[in-house]
Order: sequence, then structure tokens, then C-alpha cells
Amino acid sequence: MPEIHFLEQSTIDKIAAGEVVERPSSIVKELVENAIDAGATAITVEIRDGGISFIRITDNGCGISREEVPMAFLRHSTSKIRTVEDLAAISSLGFRGEALSSIAAVSQVELITKTGDALTASRYVIEGSKEIKFEEIGAPNGTTFLVRNLFYNTPARQKFLKSPQTEAGYINDFMERLALSKPEISFQFISNNQPKLSTSGNGDLKEVIYRIYGRDIAMNLIEIHEECAFLKLDGFLGKPVISRGNRNFESYFVNGRYVKDKIVSKAIETAYKLHLMQHQYPFAALNLKMDGSLLDINVHPAKMELRFSNGSEVYDFLNRSVQKALSQGELIPEVSVAPANRGNDRREKKGEGVSREFKNQRSEVPVPAPKKDVRPEPFEQKRLASLKEEGQQNHQLILKETAIYEKPFLEQQARARHRVIGQVFDTYWLVQFEEKLFIIDQHAAHEKVLFERLMRDFKKKDFTSQQISPPIVVSLNMREEELLKKYREEFQKLGYEIESFGGKEYAICAVPGNLYNLSAKDLFIEMLDELSDETGRRTSDAIIEKIASMSCKAAVKGKQHLSSAEIEKLLDKLLSCENPYQCPHGRPTIISMTKYELEKKFKRII
Ligand code: ADP
Ligand code: MG
Repeated sequence: MPEIHFLEQSTIDKIAAGEVVERPSSIVKELVENAIDAGATAITVEIRDGGISFIRITDNGCGISREEVPMAFLRHSTSKIRTVEDLAAISSLGFRGEALSSIAAVSQVELITKTGDALTASRYVIEGSKEIKFEEIGAPNGTTFLVRNLFYNTPARQKFLKSPQTEAGYINDFMERLALSKPEISFQFISNNQPKLSTSGNGDLKEVIYRIYGRDIAMNLIEIHEECAFLKLDGFLGKPVISRGNRNFESYFVNGRYVKDKIVSKAIETAYKLHLMQHQYPFAALNLKMDGSLLDINVHPAKMELRFSNGSEVYDFLNRSVQKALSQGELIPEVSVAPANRGNDRREKKGEGVSREFKNQRSEVPVPAPKKDVRPEPFEQKRLASLKEEGQQNHQLILKETAIYEKPFLEQQARARHRVIGQVFDTYWLVQFEEKLFIIDQHAAHEKVLFERLMRDFKKKDFTSQQISPPIVVSLNMREEELLKKYREEFQKLGYEIESFGGKEYAICAVPGNLYNLSAKDLFIEMLDELSDETGRRTSDAIIEKIASMSCKAAVKGKQHLSSAEIEKLLDKLLSCENPYQCPHGRPTIISMTKYELEKKFKRII
């Protein structure tokens, strides 16, 4: 019979460390969050070998007093809460009091710290939970943590680490997100002696975005500020043109904490749905502030997950706010005629069919300069030179100027000044307006006009129904029968009348009023087929998509000649669209090119 005994403290710490310290980025996360909690306004993170051999984090925060230094490394020691009730009103990022003990259990830690009122600093060395040194030294106010040789005493865990480059990448991602969540703190991040990120801490979120993602992202942002009884939302959304193939450009902060949350991301992505192609994700840097009592942040030791007590209200508010923001302002992508090699975004996956067409189009759209390269383009450099005395603020100025010069193309007042030049390749329309040339894809545009009309009818329940005689009889398999039962109401709203005809047979007695010459039977079966992929999706979404594909089929195709009168009419209709910028599948309907770009290309200006 094995004997029951208590584990040694160092063993307990090592086990606990498994939850908190998974990789070097977890250490950076915990220590930087501690620095933020300590009120630091400047934080420097330096790593070597992806943080596996060396991490140094320096802050100018409140420091730790000498008598508290050893205590800080004990498990469940914290200065941030006293009781579990405090969690509801917590404003700090940490509260579990287990980071320092966990980190010290699996690495070699050196701490140098000084509080403002102390004359000297403390130096504390702890390795594998064992105190090695505790002495008095001279150092500035604030705290420096050095963490060396992660998992040196737990080789089994070392094996789970990835290459130094990959680990450095995780830390870089984390630092970027943190910088976005705290524009009022100046962050420096250095990897293998190379500066990777530097923010000024002046509180300007747009500037942080510019520094991280470069000019083209910063130029395509929509600012958002919304508030309801329980939630305040601030930040920036990306225009659809800067969407990405994965969620890496989505950053959400709830009460200053970076979280990954399905409710938040779904609410935002769904709002973008009509603007983006499938498998495309938006750029978003959003700060949510809400009463802590509506949140449970203590779901996971890494505190990256949370629970909302009113999840569906949070979803609705976010979804509505983002939809509203997207419906304001002009979203026409601007193409540049820069050399092709600059325009290719290697991060994007190759698309198929329609999407490849779009990708090609997009490859001409200016994409962010290589992430870390925040140098201005030559044209900007010139301007910068002339604005030298303004120093660091230069790029901000340029961002603002551009925003002022933007004139909306799709406003009713602008319509009279559109000069329709003509059609090219029987597909695209060229329209001149102010200092820009606009190129409209007639198929995408028509598709969108029809789509919105159908959607309006649908919302107004204005779908007309037409009786057919004799009825169309269809034979459905079990799965299809189930789907029909599930979506019966939606089919009815669309104008279908379907009756059971005995066994697996069903009679379609009426179909939607305007089917644009499509075969009623084929369309019905196709709708069922497509609905069968909609497992778990909300019914209305499935219907929206169906309507989109119906309108798409009926829409005028490319490679078909349209008269000027027809295009003028189409333009009128496009102008009245709620979202005229993308077809129902997310392809752009309009792109533009500035006169300036053309003049640059013809070397009229250098
Ligand atoms: P928690 O952050 O959950 O309180 P930690 O183990 O991360 O627990 O830290 C323990 C305590 O050490 C903190 O509550 C704080 O008082 C102190 N501390 C840690 N890092 C710093 C720092 N950079 N500056 C000032 N105090 C710190
Ligand atoms: Mg902490």
C-alpha cells in the first residue's frame, strides 16, 4: 500500500507552474502585467533566444519594498486582492499571486527593485524556488526582472518549447497586443539586440497601430465609440480592404485585459460578414469597458478567457455597433500603381475561383509595408523633410491630412458630378470624380443592388408568392426532410408553399414571386443542399446567404455590354445601397485610383 504524504513546496510550485508558465511568452505576459499593475509608464522587454535563455523586463513602477521581496515569490501572495469579492471590482491585471512563485520554480530569476521612498534597491536571486542571494544595491526606482534558462530543472518540459524564432514570435505578438491595449504606456521590445517595437506612450491608439502594422493599415481605419448601459466600446476597426486570412489582426481588450472570446469575435465577424469574403477576418483593435461584476475573469490561470454574465446582450450591442460603424464613411479601396512586387501579400493563402480573381485585384491594392518597417514612403519622406521641426509627430500629421482630403464618391450630392467615361472589357465602368478615377465592376455592382432589394423585401416581409399548377413534386431524403421541417418558416416567408404529398414526397404549390427565370425545383433543392452545411448556424444567416446566391445568379454577368443609360441607372441604385462597396460574396464593387498615382506613374511628379 503506497504511503500518503504531503508534497514538498518546491514540487507543488513546479506543478502549479505548469499552468502559468507554458513558454517564454507566458513569463513575459505575467511580468509585464505586473509592471502595468505597478503603475509603470515605461516598460522595456529584452529577450534572447526567444526568451528561453534570457528575458529582462524593466519598469519604472512602484517597486517592491525590501521586506516584501521574499514574500512576493510565495505562492498565493498578492498585493492586489484580499477576498474573492474584490474580484468584481478589480482594476489590476494580476490577482492570483502565483506568477512569481511559478516562474521562480522553473527558471533562474534575479530581481532588482526599489520603491520611491527607499534609499537603496534590493537584489534577490532565486533559482528553482531556492533563495540564492538577497542583498542591498544601488539602482533607480522601479523593478527589473531577469529570467534565465527556462525549464533548466524540468528538462521534460523544455522539449515542448518550439524554436527560438517561434517563441520570439509569440512574445512579439503579445507585446503588440499589449501596446494596443495600453497606448498610454511606452513599450520597447528588443529581441537578440534588435529593436522590434517601440511606442511613445502618448495615448494615441492610432499611432500605436501605425507603428505596429504600418501605414496602409493605419490609413484604412474606422474609429468607433459606442456606449450602452453596461458597456463602453472604443477603438478602431479596419475597412474591409485590409482584411486577413486569419484572426491575427483581431485584438479585443476587456477592461484592459487581452482576451480571446468567442462572443466578442463572433459579434464582430458577423457584422463584417456582408463586407468580407468567406474565411476573411477583419482588423480590429477594440477596448471594451464594463462593470466587473458582469464578468468572470477567473476562468483560467492565464486569464485569457472570461465569461460574461449577459453574453447575448454583449453580443447584440457589439454586433450593432460594428454594423453601424461599417455603414458610415466610404469604404472604396484605393489601388496604387506601385511596382507589382511590392503589392504582394505573402501572408495570404491562394484562393480559388472567384476569390482568386479578387486576390489578383487585391494584389494591386497597397498592402502594409513589411510589418516592422514603419519608414515612410519617398513621397512622405519629402513631406517629412519639410516638416522637420515637428519631429516624432510627423506621421500623425500625414494620417490626419489624408482623412480631411477624402471626398465621398457615393453621396447623393456627388452623383451629379460623376463623369461616366465608358465601359472597358465589357465588364468595368470608368467614372471620374474629383481627383480620382473610380472603376466599377458591373456584375458585382448589379449583384449588390439586387441583393439589397431582396433583403429589403425580406425584411418588410414583402415577398410575393406565385402559385404553380400543377405543383412541383420533389422526393426528399431523411436529412432533407429534417431540414425542411427546421427551415419551414423561412421558406414560407420567402414565398414557398410546401405540402406533404405522402411518404417522402412533397408538393411545392407556390414559389417566390420573382425567381428571375430560375428553375423553381433546382433552386429549392439547391437551397436545401446548402442549408445542410449550416450545422448550428443561425437560420437568418443561412437565409441571407441563400438570398445572396439567388440574386447573384440573376444578376447581370460580366462580359455583357451595358449602355451608358443602363450604367447611369445602376450607379443611381448603387448609391442608395446600404453597403455599396462589396458584392454579397465580399468582392469589391468599386475601386479607385488617384490622379496623383497616375501622375506619379507618368513621372509628372516624382
Ligand atoms: P499577482 O500579480 O497575481 O498579485 P504575482 O506573483 O505576479 O501575483 O506577483 C506577486 C506580487 O509581487 C504582486 O502582487 C505585487 O505586489 C508584486 N510585484 C510583482 N511584480 C512587480 C513589479 N514589477 N513592480 C511592483 N510590484 C510587483
Ligand atoms: Mg502577476
